[in-house]
Amino acid sequence: MTLSPTPTKPSSGTCRACLASDCRHLHRQYFVLPGVEGKLSYDIQTCNRCGFIFADNIPATEALEAHYQEAEHHLHPDIPPGLSTIHRDFFDFIQQHADLPKEASILDIGCGMGHFLSLFKAAGHGDVLGLEPSRSAQRQAAERYGIEIVPETLGSFSPPRAFELITMCGVFEHIPDIPAALARITDIGNRDALLFLAVPDAASFGTTPSTEPFLEFALEHINFFTPATLRNLLERHGFSALTIESRANSFYNNSYIYGLFRAGLKERPGLTHDATGEESIRAYIECSNGNLAAIRARLDDLATRQTPTIIWGAGALATRLCATTPVDRLRLLGFVDKNRQLQGKSMFGAHIQPPEWLHEQDRDATVVVFSTTYGAEIARDLQEQFSWRGSILRIDLDETTTSA
Ligand SMILES: [Zn+2]
Repeated sequence: MTLSPTPTKPSSGTCRACLASDCRHLHRQYFVLPGVEGKLSYDIQTCNRCGFIFADNIPATEALEAHYQEAEHHLHPDIPPGLSTIHRDFFDFIQQHADLPKEASILDIGCGMGHFLSLFKAAGHGDVLGLEPSRSAQRQAAERYGIEIVPETLGSFSPPRAFELITMCGVFEHIPDIPAALARITDIGNRDALLFLAVPDAASFGTTPSTEPFLEFALEHINFFTPATLRNLLERHGFSALTIESRANSFYNNSYIYGLFRAGLKERPGLTHDATGEESIRAYIECSNGNLAAIRARLDDLATRQTPTIIWGAGALATRLCATTPVDRLRLLGFVDKNRQLQGKSMFGAHIQPPEWLHEQDRDATVVVFSTTYGAEIARDLQEQFSWRGSILRIDLDETTTSA
């Protein structure tokens, strides 16, 4: 994942898509990052002119880059089956809608370890290149798939040739300077290059909200496209839309927009206003606030009683819940997380520990599970591996389980 092609901080209140200075505030999202002092936040805004939804006043890039460099958490050493399936789906979509010759030069921006590119290679496309600012990704892509990755960002990259297909899967929603990124893509592509973008569909957030409050407002997720605002934006930057489709995605538990565009659009159509994003995001915020209030009430109870508490989960969900629930008032013994990159860091003065640390702890303490995806698995591990006697509070359930 490329955090930013050229790290810039857009001025507050300016629409990241159409650059109008006429925006309305919808929500402020707070975060606490392991090892980073204090709270961070960003503001979800909507543009009155084009309807684009975006995170404004995003934290300074230094804080984020330190976080990402250490975590590299988007690089899956083993491709999870769900991710592999969605890559295949992206690939099939491109094959279906683009008549791509085998000798076409292909660039995948934010390519991770190169799994998506490996599908092109397996289909007989010989000229594939990946961009991912990580030496470890470069090494793994070469070893696993025999694919070349340039460990650079879009801004620093010197293209060896003009590309005929440029792809960005789950990357464009993280780009702070969209006009600069699209100008750069225009420069490194052929005159009539194809551009494939896959981004979460913000128009679907409100219709299928997750039980995990504000799941979609991750710190690095700052652009919230709908099919209409994505088309608006690309046309404004000289790309015609060949096909745009929204598809349900079980891996990310939302819908993704698949968009295939072609460079070289001469006539730029006027902007149309899209209202679907705001309607969906408002419904999503309301639902997330409801789920958050329930979690808050349960943690508030633990804080009031000063119950000795351990939190299992210091990942993305914890970055939001630690900032928006009374975690700071808990009698907190520590955090537990399997992610080695997080272990040893601390939040609210409590250290993040590996699961084995639990063997040394009071097994009557309450464990709060800050994970929805792995909630059931963690609860089972606590009971089976650690013979846990204390209460286990899963935020994806309304009930607290206790070992019999
Ligand atoms: Zn706008």
